Amino acid sequence: MTDSESNYQPVSHTARKRFGQNFLQDASVIYNILRAIGPSSGDHLVEIGPGQAALTKPLIEQLAENSSLKLLEIDRDLASQLTAQFAHDDRVSIHIGDALDFDFTTLRENTDKPLRVFGNLPYNISTPLIFHLLEQATVNPAANVISDMHFMLQREVVDRMAAPPGSKTYGRLSIMTQYYCQVEPLFDVPPEAFTPQPKVMSAIVRLLPYKDLPLKADQPKVLDKVVRAAFSQRRKTIRNGLRDLISAEQLEAINVDPGVRAETLDIATFVNIANSLK
Ligand code: SAM
Repeated sequence: MTDSESNYQPVSHTARKRFGQNFLQDASVIYNILRAIGPSSGDHLVEIGPGQAALTKPLIEQLAENSSLKLLEIDRDLASQLTAQFAHDDRVSIHIGDALDFDFTTLRENTDKPLRVFGNLPYNISTPLIFHLLEQATVNPAANVISDMHFMLQREVVDRMAAPPGSKTYGRLSIMTQYYCQVEPLFDVPPEAFTPQPKVMSAIVRLLPYKDLPLKADQPKVLDKVVRAAFSQRRKTIRNGLRDLISAEQLEAINVDPGVRAETLDIATFVNIANSLK
């Protein structure tokens, strides 16, 4: 069914800064994002922040009959426009809510098939939202809740996610993202692709949560605590950064030099430190 058949009339909307609204307007960028997602038959797709449907509408046009698309939007005005536009389509459902505390497992309904999550994310909440999604994707890896994620983020955030040890941007976001997922930066998107234009460059990243983690922390929460403490002051040695958690002697006992800075240690070393804490 086309828009005219659903009698949908576009409504003008003033972008709300508090919801990080920068709407995509560049058809070639939209095409490239959808190609990167590569929707296929039987998919259960979830879009965070569909906004004015810049990605949603062309995606629905290629959505298979046996696929579904759930839209999660916090802005009630936009959610009611989305309802007017797409509620007639059985494959589409609209959810009003805050992605930051949304339980994505509720979207799986009665299927074992994992969700494919994507979105042009609101930049003001991108880091906490990524941590929330990592938790949702991996709280019980065996449950296989999310199979992949494609996000538009500030390029600086994508750089931090993908950063290797030793680089300036390597930190908590790099370690926790790479602990749980394979991280693939895909391509950059310039400010002109949006209205209103953001001040910074954006980028698309693909995150593939591991079904079997390559490195296993006995308690992921302890790993997070160690990583937070180690990077709380980047310039400190890890002897000082981890002072409240582990002694210099204990670090030496697991072959970690207490005099180095956190940014030089790889993820396996952080996992070792976390697993040595009782
Ligand atoms: N997908 C649209 C596009 O590409 O043009 C809009 C992207 S805009 C950067 C971010 C969208 O996320 C807006 O529609 C905004 O209202 C929505 N949003 C902001 N905070 C949200 C939250 N906490 N939970 C769900 N949606 C949110």
